[in-house]
Amino acid sequence: MLILSWGQILALLLLFVRTAIVGLANSSCSGSPLSAQDCAALSSLSLHGHITFATATSPASSSDFGRIHRRLPRSILYPSSVRDIASLVRAVHDTSSPLRIAARGAGHSVAGQAQAGDGVVIEMGSLRGIKVSEGKPGEQPYVEAMGGELWIDVVRESLKYGLAPRSLTDYLFLSVGGTLSNAGVSGQAFRYGPQISNVLELEVVTGNGEIVRCSPVDHADLFFAVLGGLGQFGIITKAKINLERAPQKVKWIRALYSDFKAFTRDQELLIARPKDSPNSFDYVEGSVIVNNNHPSNEYKPIPFHGQTLNASLIPPSAGPVLYCLELTKNYDEDESATIDETVSSLLAPLGHVPSLVFSKDASYFEFLNRVHDGEIRLRKKGLWDVPHPWMNLLVPKSKIEEFDALVFREILRKGINGPLLVYPLDKMKWDSRTSVVMPDENIFYLVGMLRYATPSGVPSVNSLVDQNKEILRVCKSAGIHLKQYIPQLSSEEEWREHYGSSWSLFLRRKLAYDPKAILAPGQNIFAPSSSTLKLSSAL
Ligand code: FAD
Repeated sequence: MLILSWGQILALLLLFVRTAIVGLANSSCSGSPLSAQDCAALSSLSLHGHITFATATSPASSSDFGRIHRRLPRSILYPSSVRDIASLVRAVHDTSSPLRIAARGAGHSVAGQAQAGDGVVIEMGSLRGIKVSEGKPGEQPYVEAMGGELWIDVVRESLKYGLAPRSLTDYLFLSVGGTLSNAGVSGQAFRYGPQISNVLELEVVTGNGEIVRCSPVDHADLFFAVLGGLGQFGIITKAKINLERAPQKVKWIRALYSDFKAFTRDQELLIARPKDSPNSFDYVEGSVIVNNNHPSNEYKPIPFHGQTLNASLIPPSAGPVLYCLELTKNYDEDESATIDETVSSLLAPLGHVPSLVFSKDASYFEFLNRVHDGEIRLRKKGLWDVPHPWMNLLVPKSKIEEFDALVFREILRKGINGPLLVYPLDKMKWDSRTSVVMPDENIFYLVGMLRYATPSGVPSVNSLVDQNKEILRVCKSAGIHLKQYIPQLSSEEEWREHYGSSWSLFLRRKLAYDPKAILAPGQNIFAPSSSTLKLSSAL
C-alpha cells in the first residue's frame, strides 16, 4: 500500500493547483486572437507566474504615461521568476511565431515604447526583490534589484542602511529596467554620470531566450549593449547598482536669472567643481519659466511653500523667459549651525538676480522624492492622467545659446504648460561603450520639455506634437546637431541617422542578442521582417 507523508500530500496538492491554473490559462486562450500555434506555445509554458489572454481587461498594459499611443497586446505575462521570462522568449524565438515581446516596467514611456501591439507584454513589476549589501569595511556598498522594481523602493530600502544610489532620476516611480534602458539622468549626473554609469552587474534574458549575468568584465559586450539599449538586446531582470552614504539633509536652493549667458556660465562652472571641493554643490539642474506674472503663471514653481516671489525685483531688461538654477548642498545634522553661511558664500559669486533666491531644508528622502508631491497635486486637479507630448533633447554646449534664442525665447516663449528643464551634463562621466548616443561635444545640455495637454483640449495634443517637430526642424536647419534622449523615431532611416557612426555596432549587437527582432517592438527600430537585419545576417 502506498503511504504518503504530509509533505508529499502537500506537494501533490500544489501540483494539482498549478495544473488547474495552467489549465485555466489554456481555456481562456481559445477565445483570443492568437493563432492556434501561438496559443498552444504560450499555453504550454511551464510558469511560476501566470499568463493572461483577455487583454481588454488589462488596459494598463496597452497604454503609457504619454496617453497618445495605445496598442493592445494579445497576451500578458506576469512573471514570478526569471525563468518565466526566458521560457516565453525562447518559445517565441524557437518557433516561427510573429509575436513580439515588450518588457513593461512602470509604463512611463510617452510614445508607446513599452507596448507590443498584437504581441506579448511582460509586466516586469510582478517580479520583485531588493537586497542591500553594505559591503565589508573599505568595500563599495551596493543594491541588487529586480528589473521591475521601482527606484522609489530601491531608495527606501537603501536608506534603511543610511545608503542611497549615487545617481537617480527626478521622479522615482520608474522601474530599474526602464531607466537603465535609456540612461537615467538628473541633477546628480554631472558628478556620477547617468544611472547607467553606476551599474556593477546585470542579469539579462536575451532575445535568444538565454539568461546571462554580465558586467564590465564578464560578457562585457552584452552588458554595455543593454545599458541605454532601449530594450533591444535583452530584458534586464536584475541589476547590481552601487550605493554611497546618504546625507541626512539637503539645503535646497532656487535662484532666478534674467540672463541666459550668466545662467549657463554658472551651471557649467558648478558642474566642473570636483566632489571633494568644499565649494561644490551636490545637485545642479535648471529650468526655463515664462516671465509673466499672470495669476496662473509660472513664477509659482520657483518659491518654496510659504515663500513669495516679488515680481518687481525682476530686472526690466529681462526677456520673455527667465531661468531658474536649482541646487542642493548635502549636510548632516551636526552641520546645521553653519550650513546657511556655507551656502551664502557659495552663492555670492554667482550671477543670479541677488534678491531672487529661495531655499529650504529638506530630509534627503523628501528631496529625492520631490516630484511625487507634484504628482499628488496634479492628480487632485485631474491633470496627471492626461496626454503628455514630451520631448527630451541633448543639445551641444556650443549651440545652447542659439537654442535659447530660437526655441526658449521664440517658439516656446509662452511656456509649455509643464516643466521645461535645461541643465548641462559632462560626457566624461558617461561610458562610451554603452548604447546611448550623445552629441559630439564634451558638455551638452539636457532640454526636457515635459508638457501636458489640458483636459479642455486647447491647445490640442496634435498641435503640441507638431510644435515638437517644428523645434526639431528649426534646429536642423540652424545646424544644431542635437540628439533625442528617450528618442521617439518611427523609421529605420531615422534610427540610422540617430545612431550615426554607432549604427553598425548597434546592428551587430542586435544580430548577436536578438536576431529575430523579438524585443521592444514599441521602439519602432526594426520591423519584424527588417530587411537590414536579414541582409546583415546573410553577410
Ligand atoms: P517603460 O515605459 O515601462 O519602458 C521603457 C522602455 O524600456 C520600453 O522600450 C520597454 O520595453 C523597456 N524596458 C522596460 N523594462 C525593461 C527591462 N526590465 N529590461 C529591458 N527593457 C525594459 N528620465 C530620466 O532620465 N530622468 C528623469 O528625471 C525622468 N523623469 C521622469 C518623470 C516622469 C514623470 C516620467 C513619466 C518619466 C521620466 N523620465 C525620466 C523618463 C523615464 O526614465 C523613461 O520613460 C523610462 O523608460 C521610464 O521607465 P519605465 O519603467 O516606466 O519604462
